[in-house]
Amino acid sequence: MAVVRLSGRDLGGVLAGLLGRVPEPRQAIYTSFLSADGDAIDQGIALYFPAPRSYTGQDTLELQCHGNPLIADHLLRRAMELGARLANPGEFTQRAFLNGKLDLAQAEAVADLINATTDLALRSARHSLEGVFSQQVDGLARALIQLRVQIEAALDFSDEDIDYLEAAALARHIEANLHALDTLLAQTRQGVILREGYTVVLAGRPNSGKSSLLNALSGRDSAIVTDVPGTTRDVLREPIQIDGMPLHIIDTAGLRRTDDPVEQEGVRRARSHMAKANRILHIVDASHETAADASALDLPPDIPITRIHNKVDLTRSPPGIRSEGDVVHIHLSAKTGAGIDALKQHLKQAASFQAEGEGLFIARRRHLDALTRCRDHLADAVALTAADGPELIAEQLRLAHDALGEITGTVSADDLLGHIFSTFCVGK
Ligand code: GDP
Ligand code: ZN
Repeated sequence: MAVVRLSGRDLGGVLAGLLGRVPEPRQAIYTSFLSADGDAIDQGIALYFPAPRSYTGQDTLELQCHGNPLIADHLLRRAMELGARLANPGEFTQRAFLNGKLDLAQAEAVADLINATTDLALRSARHSLEGVFSQQVDGLARALIQLRVQIEAALDFSDEDIDYLEAAALARHIEANLHALDTLLAQTRQGVILREGYTVVLAGRPNSGKSSLLNALSGRDSAIVTDVPGTTRDVLREPIQIDGMPLHIIDTAGLRRTDDPVEQEGVRRARSHMAKANRILHIVDASHETAADASALDLPPDIPITRIHNKVDLTRSPPGIRSEGDVVHIHLSAKTGAGIDALKQHLKQAASFQAEGEGLFIARRRHLDALTRCRDHLADAVALTAADGPELIAEQLRLAHDALGEITGTVSADDLLGHIFSTFCVGK
């Protein structure tokens, strides 16, 4: 089957031209799809959703035809003769947003639902689409409105600054919202990980066991394991999950000086992936550990590192986690699997990932940015209650409120909307 989907302010002309009639709303009818001279292009099912009870909020018509692209093409061309044009990526969802069917966070969840890579991410995206995230944002926004109303009323009705007692009460109120926001921020961070995954780079000398560790974590034989140093030339991306947390593992080419141009390219790519990762797993061969292992790689300084001592099966040391100062050391064997579970738990903890809860929702960096800005403004507002006049506090509360509005789209710039919907696939 192919589905041609049309939506717009008035589909009267399209209905008359393509179907020769206006179908009963929301009922599947079996009908001919007509060409300009009245012949049948195809026969199939038509579904008509008149405004406002449709996905976009506008008249919507879905035509299910036989799945030959030529037929779908004919239908498209005929619809365009009758006044339709091709939709932009995400345009159906964009109209749904513009017509108040969804808020912006829900609209984004449509795309995230389509692209989710684990069951947990899928469930979380559905929660976002149902409004779980938006409701929390709206709840906070309502609390901020109340505060703003109080303080702006005070501004209007008195020339005095807020007195000491009132200021303390005000600070307490704002702080209560700050706490609620912190909880939401933690959930949102997790939502971003559900959407984007936690990215881990396997770094280490050739033959330390990077490819073997990748295979042990993914439970698949995807990377080539050999005892010839420099075998892994390309960067491998392996989507796997730990208790629902999507984990991207990047096995890098052995980072070593080389004259082979293919291998040099591998090293270059490894470095660029490393710079963007959430964490680096620096793997050393525990059976041949040297003092140079720790320093030889010049790893990027700002990305947290976990040191993996692989091949413990060849040594006397037991598998498991041992922390030394800031650095976590994990002793394991990629070959026997000993210590792999400890590594998985460590990665979940490092990502602050808790899999449980019906309250999970999917989220984007954009949401995290907005919540963080909201938090900064609230913290500023609390600080101002100690010293300054209510005007400055009111201004910080307004900025905090606006930041929340960006998430659900009550405050939004056109270029933001364009950016969000352009990343959708066509037809959604
Ligand atoms: P890479 O070059 O870092 O990707 O290393 P590989 O994963 O290709 O492994 C290099 C060699 O070490 C292979 O012969 C593996 O079988 C071996 N190896 C990897 N992990 C272990 C381990 O935990 N124990 C033992 N005994 N050998 C291992
Ligand atoms: Zn390898």
